[in-house]
Amino acid sequence: MTGPRIEVRLDCLRHNAEVLVRRLAGRGIAVCGVTKATLGSPEVAAELVAAGVTSIGESRIENVERLRTAGVTTPIALVRAPLPSQVERVVAAADLSLNTELEVIAALSAAAVQQGRRHGVVLMVELGDLREGILPADVEPVAATTLRLPGVVLRGIGTNLACQSGVVPDERNMAELSALATRLEARLDTGLEIVSGGNSANLAWAFSTPTPGRVNHLRLGEAILLGCEPSRRLPIDGLRTDVFTVIGEIIESKAKPSVAWGDVAETAFGAPTPATAAGTTTRVLVGLGRQDTDPAGLTSPPGTTVLGASSDVVVLDAGDACPPVGAEVRFGVGYGALLAAMTSPFVRRNFLSGDPARVSAPLDEPPRPS
Ligand SMILES: *Cc1c(COP(=O)(O)O)cnc(C)c1O
Repeated sequence: MTGPRIEVRLDCLRHNAEVLVRRLAGRGIAVCGVTKATLGSPEVAAELVAAGVTSIGESRIENVERLRTAGVTTPIALVRAPLPSQVERVVAAADLSLNTELEVIAALSAAAVQQGRRHGVVLMVELGDLREGILPADVEPVAATTLRLPGVVLRGIGTNLACQSGVVPDERNMAELSALATRLEARLDTGLEIVSGGNSANLAWAFSTPTPGRVNHLRLGEAILLGCEPSRRLPIDGLRTDVFTVIGEIIESKAKPSVAWGDVAETAFGAPTPATAAGTTTRVLVGLGRQDTDPAGLTSPPGTTVLGASSDVVVLDAGDACPPVGAEVRFGVGYGALLAAMTSPFVRRNFLSGDPARVSAPLDEPPRPS
């Protein structure tokens, strides 16, 4: 084994996706499986499709194209609004995109007409989180114009909460989305097939609401990939939180004083790590750094703590243990660490298969901070 790698338990991934698809089907909600944190990994997408997601969600056209080249035929939704300079590629590779600007929708329509296609449009509605979205009062004219454009099909409306301002999906904002869908249908004399309530942060609402109303679609990344609910970063009952593991090699392991000596100023990445209590502990250097992952999103093995990290090294306090140089250290990952590891050219991917039917969620698993 050479250099840093990320291990992917495909059986656990499939398990998570199957559990969520099944639970949400019981509420009339279809799952769009979002692969963006995996750089559009075809291996990951294949598990999600096998688990029953009705579409794949991606944020970058390069990833959509990678999935298509790998032979994925499942509908793909671009979940970030298309870059105006990429509308031709979006229309060619994605079935659907989430949109908020009429200029972009018109450009998608023109590109689709040119290519002899029709591109699906979901209009995103701003419900308070203040990232993407058309203000509710302005949605009707945009929808009306979209309906008149020849190259696009208005497939539905959606919203995205909990990403910019941390606004939580709840009865009030989800009811507002449902009511808007019903009102638009009446006013424009059209059907809206998709009402997309949001991302993994919507699960708490989706599982507890007396009725999901018109919401029949969620776009789920983190919940499937990490088994966690993003608002409080708690494991979701019955899901595996160990789909991904980042692994690095020990390059130094020595007992050293725990307090630094000399004149102390800033490090390359800002303030130095605060000193721990005086004494001697084993400091372990792992050959893994910010060029490979987001060290702040790593969970180190029991008995160790992360003291700090720089471009190429993570420093662990291993207490009294003295792990040998060359041994591997396995880290759990949060969303940022996963994203960085999957997009780093230094991190090899190792996909492990197994029988998803034999995966079970450990009942006594402690919450994993991320
Ligand atoms: C990333 C993203 C998602 C998926 O979010 P998770 O929290 O990973 O479930 C859904 N919708 C949009 C618009 C996104 O950008």
